[in-house]
Parts: sequence; C-alpha cells; structure tokens
Amino acid sequence: MKFLITAGPTREPIDPVRFISNRSSGKMGYAIAQAALAAGHEVILVSGPVYLAPPRRAQTIKVTTCDEMYDTVHSHLDGIDIAVMCAAVSDFKPANFTPRKIKKHAGLESLTLVPTRDILASLAKNKKKFLVVGFAAETNDLKKNALKKMREKKCDLIIGNDVSRMDTGMESDDNELTLFYNTGIIETIPRAKKTALAKKLVKIFEKLQEKS
Ligand code: C5P
Repeated sequence: MKFLITAGPTREPIDPVRFISNRSSGKMGYAIAQAALAAGHEVILVSGPVYLAPPRRAQTIKVTTCDEMYDTVHSHLDGIDIAVMCAAVSDFKPANFTPRKIKKHAGLESLTLVPTRDILASLAKNKKKFLVVGFAAETNDLKKNALKKMREKKCDLIIGNDVSRMDTGMESDDNELTLFYNTGIIETIPRAKKTALAKKLVKIFEKLQEKS
C-alpha cells in the first residue's frame, strides 16, 4: 500500500520569531510511518516541526504552516491508498503576519486569528480513490466529538484519544485509542506504547483496504 501520513504540529507565525502552535510531538504519526515501512509499505510523511529523526526509507517532507501542509498533501495524492491525517494542525492562524519583530514596548493589545484550512475535510472529494483516516484528540466527550468529526470530515475511520491526561496522548510515549468506523463499529485499543499501537493500526488499515 502507499501511505500518505501527516504528523506533528504546525506553526502559524505572528512575526519572524513568534508563532502559535501546540504540544504535538509527532510521535504517533512517526510510529505509524515506521510501522507501515516495516510491513513493506511505501510512505510519504508530511511532517510539521518535530524533534524526531525522519524514518529511513520514507519520503519525508518537512513543512511549517498549515497552508504548506495543505499544499504538500494535495500535491502528493496521486496513487495513494490511504491518507492518515495524524498531524495536530493549528485550527487558527494570525490574520496578519508582521514582517518585523513586534517590539515589547510597542505592546500587542490583541491578536486577530482566522481559521486555517482543514486538510482532512478537503480530502472528502477524493474519498473513493483512497481510505481517509482522521484523528480526534479530545479532552471531553470523546465519542460525541469523534462521531461528529467523522460525519463532517467524511472519514472512513476516526481514531480518538483522550488528551486530558498527561500520561497518554500528546507528547507521551503511550496512548490509548478508540476507533470509530464509518460502519458504526467502535473498537478500543488499550493503553500501550505508541510504537506497539502503530503496528496494530497498520494491520487494521491493511484489513480496511482489503474490504474496500
Ligand atoms: O477538527 P480537529 O482539528 O479536532 O480534527 C482533527 C483531525 O483533523 C486530525 O486528523 C487532523 O490531522 C485533521 N486536521 C486537518 N487540518 C486542519 C485541522 C485538523 O487535517 N486544519
């Protein structure tokens, strides 16, 4: 199979030295890339800024902003079998980029933010050509929010994880996942290392591909 995976956070610049971002480490996306390669698949990894070594044998493309990630994803859709959108893309970006560093003494009373483009949702129109997998990192109402995301973003599968706890989810080596399939089936994968979970996920993706 040919995988297109996004991973890590994005950074949305305010000025040349400041940005809006989030706590994503990229570990889950990189682990999925590694597991897919180990299972003999081809991987294009579109990665935001992370402190991880790019998996050998993956085509890794480093990006910074949501717009760069969006364009890179859209220019690499040809021939893919599955898009695994694992990146914690910033939902908002500053409305304006200030090309010179904003001086502290000048003050910054407010910052106007505008929504970024949703990469996962933008894949819906290609849905018949490849499987679309999204992630839902939630602090509350995981099931309700994940199912809403699945409907709105038209995914084949949404992988939910609870990010309210510090010992799993973002930045952690461990995770606990709940899988929401578009068939209505819900499956929980108990807490484990992200590397072990990634191997299970790749097997699940292979089965989904067989059925599609
Ligand atoms: O809406 P929310 O950001 O919670 O959705 C998470 C899912 O959507 C993840 O799969 C994430 O990679 C994807 N996403 C995206 N582009 C955005 C925001 C989220 O691809 N701008």
